[in-house]
Amino acid sequence: MDRRHFLQTVGSLAVATQLPRLTFAQAYDDPADVYARVKGSPDLQLSMPGGNITIAMDGDSRPLDKRRIETWIRRSASAISAYFGRFPVSHWYLLVTPGAGNRIGPATTWGYPGSVTHLTVGRDVTDDALRDDWVMVHEMTHMALPRVPMRSEWFMEGSATYVEPIARAQSRQIPAQEVWRWAVDDMPKGQPQEGDEGLDHTHTWGRTYWGGAMYWLLAEIAIYKHSHGKYRLQDALRAINRASGGNMASWSVMQTAQTGDAAVKGDVLASLYDKLKDRPVTIDLDGMLRELGISEVDGVIRFDDRAPLAELRRSITLLEPSDR
Ligand SMILES: [Zn+2]
Repeated sequence: MDRRHFLQTVGSLAVATQLPRLTFAQAYDDPADVYARVKGSPDLQLSMPGGNITIAMDGDSRPLDKRRIETWIRRSASAISAYFGRFPVSHWYLLVTPGAGNRIGPATTWGYPGSVTHLTVGRDVTDDALRDDWVMVHEMTHMALPRVPMRSEWFMEGSATYVEPIARAQSRQIPAQEVWRWAVDDMPKGQPQEGDEGLDHTHTWGRTYWGGAMYWLLAEIAIYKHSHGKYRLQDALRAINRASGGNMASWSVMQTAQTGDAAVKGDVLASLYDKLKDRPVTIDLDGMLRELGISEVDGVIRFDDRAPLAELRRSITLLEPSDR
């Protein structure tokens, strides 16, 4: 599927359960039913450092065999575990519903009564599509962080949108260029439009996913500058994950921001939240990308290693746990 075309088709819709780059209607269930279904008759049990995964396949799943599903889940789980330093919740329950066609998604993740995800996968999905999938890592980022009030949905969707490609790049599942390709092409969709009242009051698709992702990129740069290169956003997000235990916790945005800020010895997350939540702020995205040494030349993403923040850009997509 042409994700970019699909995105443009739905770009003007404002629906809470949409994903940033793959969106269609989700018929939804009660999370208690999904949780009971997975617990009641699991098909697969996986153990990762830091947590266990229980998976159930709903209905007739042929030819989506368990081995293919397991390979896919393990690949996504290893990327998210590398980013957060361990599997981010102690127990995750996943219900996979086979559907028509070859698409992955839609997906929804809840934090009650456990950490639960329901995801639809087309029976005709290819191995290549499973290998290149980003939806699973997006959902896993949701489970790593506490839930926040719905008016700040952008905070959660933005973190998943921002972290997902980075986690996959750090695990060498995608090239660094792909991470920044999304920033160049799609982050401009997160800028405020006419009538915008700030991130907490403007619940459009663009502001929720890409406006939210821009908040986290701004935070990434500010944490690096404030700490003179000692910390990354990843350090703050790991601390939030450890303190909350993931999405079974329900926190305020301020509590989440302050927990991350404490870990990187600053106030970047909280002060950025104050700045962006109640008013439209147009971000100098081109300037940020230039500082990071990212540009597009003849349709190709290029890096400039002499740019002022080139070291940060390189380190974002590298996994260097011993240095952090
Ligand atoms: Zn999401």
